[in-house]
Amino acid sequence: MPTLHFYNTLTRKLEVFAPINPELVTLYTCGPTVYDYAHIGNLRAYTFADTLKRTLLYLGYKVHHTMNTTDVGQMDSDADLGEDKIMIGVRRAAERGEQVTAMDIAKLYTEKFIHDRDSMNILPPDELTPATEHIDAMIELIKILKEKGFAYKTSRAVYFDVSKFPTYTQLSGQKLEEQLEGVREEVVVDPEKRHPADFRLWQLDQPNHSMLWDSPWGKGFPGWHIECSAMAMEYLGETIDIHTGGVDHIPVHHTNEIAQSEAATGKKFVNYWLHNEFIRVNNVKMSKSKNNFYSMKDIIDHNFSPMDLRYLYLEAHYRFPQNFTWEALQGARSARLNVTEQVAILLTVHHDQELENIENHELRNKFANYIADDLNIPGALSVMWEVVRSKELPGSTKLALLLDFDNVLGLELEKIPTIYTKFSLDEIAEIQKLLDDRENAKKSKDWSSADELRNHLTQKNVRIIDTSEGPVALLG
Ligand SMILES: [Zn+2]
Repeated sequence: MPTLHFYNTLTRKLEVFAPINPELVTLYTCGPTVYDYAHIGNLRAYTFADTLKRTLLYLGYKVHHTMNTTDVGQMDSDADLGEDKIMIGVRRAAERGEQVTAMDIAKLYTEKFIHDRDSMNILPPDELTPATEHIDAMIELIKILKEKGFAYKTSRAVYFDVSKFPTYTQLSGQKLEEQLEGVREEVVVDPEKRHPADFRLWQLDQPNHSMLWDSPWGKGFPGWHIECSAMAMEYLGETIDIHTGGVDHIPVHHTNEIAQSEAATGKKFVNYWLHNEFIRVNNVKMSKSKNNFYSMKDIIDHNFSPMDLRYLYLEAHYRFPQNFTWEALQGARSARLNVTEQVAILLTVHHDQELENIENHELRNKFANYIADDLNIPGALSVMWEVVRSKELPGSTKLALLLDFDNVLGLELEKIPTIYTKFSLDEIAEIQKLLDDRENAKKSKDWSSADELRNHLTQKNVRIIDTSEGPVALLG
């Protein structure tokens, strides 16, 4: 197997991947804030994390994967201001006349997220951990930061003191002033805050929030960033191999995760930081004012499958921005249906054979080299098409290669409805007889009977495809 390389945001270099424990890779992914549907930008991030995990598994690693759900503490603005997003969900429901609690909102949108995830064939993490179930661990972490002098309390919040952490801007590679540009636009509401970059570990100034917990500093709720540090360390250890997320997390959320984790433990928090780029819609940044935050519902309302969206994501390298258009999604669908049909034919023809051993096949090596090169999935897709279009490869080799590649691509190529999986044995016998009769009619050049038999099969919702390996019947 080839050597795996990743581009590490922390060092801004392509690096050889060397896990702490070669037997088990630890992987943490920032999950959804469960107050609304995931949009196509979020779904790209989860699909990227999925191809990463599948690549690790394909190359022989075992993976321990943890993902959080944020069900408290993420404010509407990165500057720790505004309204808690879960409370926005509660308010919106109230505006629709629904009386729901914060936990109802979190539960509802966690279910929606799981549904979207499964519909795109994204592998579930080993743990999907809600922030509200880990408040104690967060309080413990804040206590340590306070004891070590990295945190201070004002009347409104407990803050992390960035001046005590000299490598604070290492991940972003920016100067602190640049990093703060977004924050400066906000009105600073806490005059006791020492530095504009200091961020909230524990919120004390929202007594009307519906989720409040006791703490050594008073009743309140955690800041957003502390949850990922607490949960990543609880499940994966003080130093983890890989942490993923969107590039929007680099200057604030992930920068803060590093600061508070490393200040608390004195150890490196994450060895490899991997970030996916944005999705644009019709070449425009997604924004509230443009109303272009498409969700899975929009995809389905336009008569596309969630798997079409998955294929679209595979077409771009994760470190490059991708442009979403309905035309591009149409192209992804055509490509996906094309490969799906080719595999359906191969499965039908070779259904009674054992899969060939393609362990050392040249095209398998080519595929593996692409994915090992910082997840070059577009390159891997091109190898898939090379196999599909090949005139030299025997069908059985093609089938074995395509099903093998699908462990990484996740296009569910093995789940294709064929007459062998969807019809009863009696129906298969009947269809087989019609197929044989038609072949005989064709041999004796009785074209009208052959056409009639084809129509007969069409009425049974069976489509006949004449291939070099004989006629194949497909459902639908
Ligand atoms: Zn996070």
